[in-house]
Amino acid sequence: MASESCDLLVIGAGSGGLAAAKRAAGHGAKVILIEEDLVGGTCVIRGCIPKKLMVYASHFAHLYEDAVGYGWQKVEARFDWQTLVSAVDREIRRLSALHVGLLENMGIRLVYGHAGFIDPRTVEVDGRKFTATKILIAVGSEAVLPPTPGIEYVATSRRMFKLPEQPDRLAVIGGGYIGVEFACLMNSLGSQVTQILRGDAILRGFDEDIRLHLQQSMANHGIAFCPDTEVEKIEKTAAGLSLSLAGARSSGLTVDAGVLFAVGRAPNIGGLGLDNAGVEIVKGALAVDERARTNQPHIYAVGDCTNRVMLTPVAIAEGRAFADREFANLPTRVNYNTIPTAVFSQPEVGTVGLSEAEAKRQLGEASVTVYRARFRSLYYNLAGRDERTWIKLVVDRQSDRVVGVHMVGKDAAEIIQSVAIAVTMGATKRDFDATMALHPTTAEEFVTLMSSS
Ligand code: NDP
Repeated sequence: MASESCDLLVIGAGSGGLAAAKRAAGHGAKVILIEEDLVGGTCVIRGCIPKKLMVYASHFAHLYEDAVGYGWQKVEARFDWQTLVSAVDREIRRLSALHVGLLENMGIRLVYGHAGFIDPRTVEVDGRKFTATKILIAVGSEAVLPPTPGIEYVATSRRMFKLPEQPDRLAVIGGGYIGVEFACLMNSLGSQVTQILRGDAILRGFDEDIRLHLQQSMANHGIAFCPDTEVEKIEKTAAGLSLSLAGARSSGLTVDAGVLFAVGRAPNIGGLGLDNAGVEIVKGALAVDERARTNQPHIYAVGDCTNRVMLTPVAIAEGRAFADREFANLPTRVNYNTIPTAVFSQPEVGTVGLSEAEAKRQLGEASVTVYRARFRSLYYNLAGRDERTWIKLVVDRQSDRVVGVHMVGKDAAEIIQSVAIAVTMGATKRDFDATMALHPTTAEEFVTLMSSS
């Protein structure tokens, strides 16, 4: 059968692939996009979006309680897991269909099926052959599962969105983004959550103050932590799933059909026939240069399948920059220096720039000034909740530049997104101080921080 050809063949209709395909088509390229699942990828279908919807659902538990302090009568609210799961599923299908419509409007041909290289220039999808001037691999990542006996009984984040029933008792293994977010949302929805950490604390790599403050808050909310503990074996018993543990906690733990393993994600590049394409894999990921090019000059890669940062906005920026450079000769570059990030925990975490430890490592201990504050936001006073907000600025003493901003508290993600503009522009502590406060808000604390440590 003759092959079909185009200017750009994109493998994977997730955040990076969609962004690249649309931008390239906007520049006039003939684009074919291949996807084996629903259009939208991890973020839309089984990651950021369904997760955020579930986080919103979990907030109501606190809102009902807080309302009493504001004069509302106590409501005995009941939560129904199946209703939420169905509503989330409907919403992601609606969003996926919107993306498909956009692709059609832009003249991008969508091909469903599994793509595999048969040689460096040809990709086969269920017997159909495609060639292109440039090929972009944007196949994302998938959850890593260690070879623990009984691992077949556990869920990854993908399955959490589809659990037929809410577990009364849930074990979460891993203290990264996914583990922390699910521990918090499932706890608020009413599951009894135990989080098992192989290290001493959650969110390694984040500012130490964030880690400690958030973990303390999560414990106050009722999440049980087992630090310095590993899972040796999982068995199905009449009482539920039984976890054999080793380390600081060696007594076992029994939970319902709910064991979430969230111990990291890895590029989803198996089955792509990369050997046939002669594309180099380094430490399990596609190694790319600053132009997103693999060792094959016509094959590019963006997003989670590369050796760079696993975050949706980064994949989108990489996809757009690739299309601008290769199809419009524009010098678009991705700024990897100040990537804001949030953990949708309860309370929420927002952060941009360097942690205090990293700033001291890069700039020298004596060259870093830290400003911090811990307070109860006004909202919690009448609600009667002992929830503390915590903020921190990390400043380069010599240049006065703010090199890191960190927050744990209500709306931290929304607040840090705006602060990230200032940090990206190179704002100094004096610029923060010269900014008029917006009163009464939580965010005003960032422009009124006086004392340093
Ligand atoms: P992370 O890399 O964030 O965290 C992995 C966690 O698992 C760490 O706590 C790590 O412990 C622990 N771990 C690793 N290996 C083992 C093991 N063998 N046994 C027990 N524990 C182990 O991974 P996630 O899966 O949480 O998230 C994957 C990626 O998805 C993130 O890196 C992030 O880029 C992205 N993401 C972003 C979100 C956001 O922006 N809000 C939300 C969800 C995902 P240790 O600390 O000791 O290394």
